[in-house]
Amino acid sequence: MGSLHVLWLQSGGCGGCSMSLLNADTPDWAATLRTSGIEWLWHPSLSLASGEAVLQMLEDCLSGAQPLDVLCIEGALLRGPQGSGRFHLLAGTGVPMISWVRRLAGVARYVVAVGSCAAWGGVSGARNHATEACGLQFEDDQPGGLLGAAFRSGAGLPVINVAGCPTHPGWVIDSLMALADGSLSADDLDSLQRPRFYADQLVHHGCTRNEFYEFKASAEQPSDLGCMMEHMGCKGTQAHADCNTRLWNGEGSCTRGGYACISCTEPGFQDPGHAFDATPKVAGIPIGLPTDMPKAWFVALASLSKSATPRRVKTNATADHIVVPPVARKTRLK
Ligand code: SF4
Ligand code: SF4
Repeated sequence: MGSLHVLWLQSGGCGGCSMSLLNADTPDWAATLRTSGIEWLWHPSLSLASGEAVLQMLEDCLSGAQPLDVLCIEGALLRGPQGSGRFHLLAGTGVPMISWVRRLAGVARYVVAVGSCAAWGGVSGARNHATEACGLQFEDDQPGGLLGAAFRSGAGLPVINVAGCPTHPGWVIDSLMALADGSLSADDLDSLQRPRFYADQLVHHGCTRNEFYEFKASAEQPSDLGCMMEHMGCKGTQAHADCNTRLWNGEGSCTRGGYACISCTEPGFQDPGHAFDATPKVAGIPIGLPTDMPKAWFVALASLSKSATPRRVKTNATADHIVVPPVARKTRLK
């Protein structure tokens, strides 16, 4: 297996996706990448090279002297002001980053959007932004972005959107490893071009609050143990990601930490139109219902399950610790 040469550039973002990568849950993530044949050409936080050496490496990629297998972009592409791209010039070149990205994408075998900024515009593209930020191949949920909907990289794939804010280090590493062994095809991407190994899951899957969800036993304030869908803005039933089965740093997730899922892997998550920690409702019924559930069913099932809620579940839902433990009954086989 030859090396997969990866170039990582940062554009209009906060750097959080790089920080997330550094928290990868492996004993030695650098060795994990190395033994998978993944080789950094350059990463702004991880590489020693700077200045002229980096610019020469970029030129070598463009000329073909240096093979560019994967172009990873973190952060949104800033097209402003007025399409000039001059809000973000690549240091030392006087040339807009969007020009570099367009040209480098043209010679890369694969192009990867790392994080929701690079995928959709993300936080950088929030409502009323002045930067004309967009993603590599999407602007919000509309195909297009910087490279255009028809873009295909050298290997024939569209931009691979490893979306999330920040994106999970495992999603980045698994994507790179799949590219290194040639096992990531167009069929492995969902309709928003996210790798299906994580996007075919919902955050709701594996959430420790599922028993509360079943009975619509709901948290009423941030420290409560109950399900956060009804009052606290949780979108885990709609958000495509495996956060509660893959976990972060080996044991965490937003919902396990007491925060509602804000659906950061989805386009437009940054502009929900309401407070992140509040559930918008019409006539007391949440607007954002689970992905596959008709509203009438939800209403019927919610009222039925609420009427059947065990005292333990109901009491614990609005407490910050277990107030009523499960009853210990016979432990023999039944
Ligand atoms: S996706 Fe989120 S964490 Fe990553 S660069 Fe953008 S704002 Fe930062
Ligand atoms: S808190 Fe969110 S993810 Fe967890 S069970 Fe409730 S709706 Fe699902």
